[in-house]
Amino acid sequence: MKTSGKIAACALGVAAAANAVHAAAFRPKKEAVAPLPAENVNVARYRAHLSRAIQIKTISNRDTDRVDWNEFQKFQDFIDEAFPLIRETLEKTVVPPSNLVFHWKGTRSDLDPIALLGHQDVVPVTSGTEGDWVHPPFEGVDDGEFIWGRGALDMKNHLIAVLEATETLLEEGFTPERDVYLLFGDNEEVVANDKNGARDIMNYLKDKGVHLDCVLDEGGAMLPVDVPHVINNKYLAGIGIGEKGYADIEVAVCAKGGHSSQPPKHSAIGRLADVIKDLENHQFKSEFSFNMKQLLDSVARNVTYPVRLVTCNVKALQPLLLQVFKLIPPAACMIRTTTGVTMTQGSPAANVLPQRASVTVNFRAMPGVTTDDLVSHIRKVVRNKDIEVNVLNSKEASKMSPTDSRAYGIIADLCRRMEPNSIVVPYLVMGGTDACNYEPICENIYRYAPFKADASLLLCTHGTNERIPISCMEEGLVFFKNFIREASGE
Ligand SMILES: [Zn+2]
Repeated sequence: MKTSGKIAACALGVAAAANAVHAAAFRPKKEAVAPLPAENVNVARYRAHLSRAIQIKTISNRDTDRVDWNEFQKFQDFIDEAFPLIRETLEKTVVPPSNLVFHWKGTRSDLDPIALLGHQDVVPVTSGTEGDWVHPPFEGVDDGEFIWGRGALDMKNHLIAVLEATETLLEEGFTPERDVYLLFGDNEEVVANDKNGARDIMNYLKDKGVHLDCVLDEGGAMLPVDVPHVINNKYLAGIGIGEKGYADIEVAVCAKGGHSSQPPKHSAIGRLADVIKDLENHQFKSEFSFNMKQLLDSVARNVTYPVRLVTCNVKALQPLLLQVFKLIPPAACMIRTTTGVTMTQGSPAANVLPQRASVTVNFRAMPGVTTDDLVSHIRKVVRNKDIEVNVLNSKEASKMSPTDSRAYGIIADLCRRMEPNSIVVPYLVMGGTDACNYEPICENIYRYAPFKADASLLLCTHGTNERIPISCMEEGLVFFKNFIREASGE
């Protein structure tokens, strides 16, 4: 070997050795966590109550005339009957039509109250799929392994657990320092609605002069991650600190129309096809946000040693990772505003040329991208400037809540104490929740559901065979008891 070759080989050897040392040291930052002491919870009672809650068909609908409000009344009556100490101790207010506010007075009126959120409503079962369910969607069947039914994961499980934890704390004689609000909206599942129940609850509190210390809603989860030889027996606890925006925007092209026997070179639909291609070919810019970088770093530190030889260079790998993320839709949606072309409309008959052809595009906007930005984007990337752009529905992306707040610390700490193998990370919720409606009266808004369920089960949410494993219930109750106790303190 020539001298230069020897030097190169030597340099490579040194670099590889340095990388090996770096990979060995590239471990999660060790934080001393004491496991939680044993907690008194009543899982049997919770199971019975959740089962009954699922039997009540609190289905929301964009058209409020099509909502069966009797079911919501039944749900309220059920809560009153099932949780007697809550009925006696907490002040209940109904914000019309059926939003529920429970107010638990604390001993320190000088401190801002805390709020635990939930929505009473569920989505309907798609007609024709009822027979695909192992157990009917509104019977709340408890087969000893799961409780089945619409709302079992989204989110009667969460709402009933909040009530159950509160009832148990009352039984134990606990009194909070801060006031505690339990706030249950009636139409979360109706996205971008003018008549938003959570917003009405927020306005009710705002009118009373309430400013909340923190809000805890659904949205985040503790997901098992176990990939042989890559990452062993870990849980990814994602605490939602923000959520994407939502917009349905119609883009239309007009034309003369006429008889289809004498078509022009391109009808309105042909010109609309170019509009669609322009939109799909000009995706929004992708980038790793500060929180996404934190998530990548945390995961990179928790993989096995051979994999860490690569992932310890996660910073240098980011440009490459960005390209990989862009190719995988479930990953791409985490790093950019998405453009989903969903509906098209042309002429009403096969032999009529359309006078107007339109496409509806569903955008999910990253924080910082407003609905006005979406409209500007459409006008910029579509080459045809003779288009109509109509915003049909929209909800702006939320603000991002801080990760150095007292409340975030309590949630993160509880995750680590309950599951020593958890990787706790802040993350952006892809769907919508009620939580962002509280921004006018709260800066610390978090989304986390403490029920361990694997991704395949979570996919049943809004779908067929929605069900919750019995095995995750105890931890859920323990979490809420601890959260209420700690967060309501000074
Ligand atoms: Zn939900």
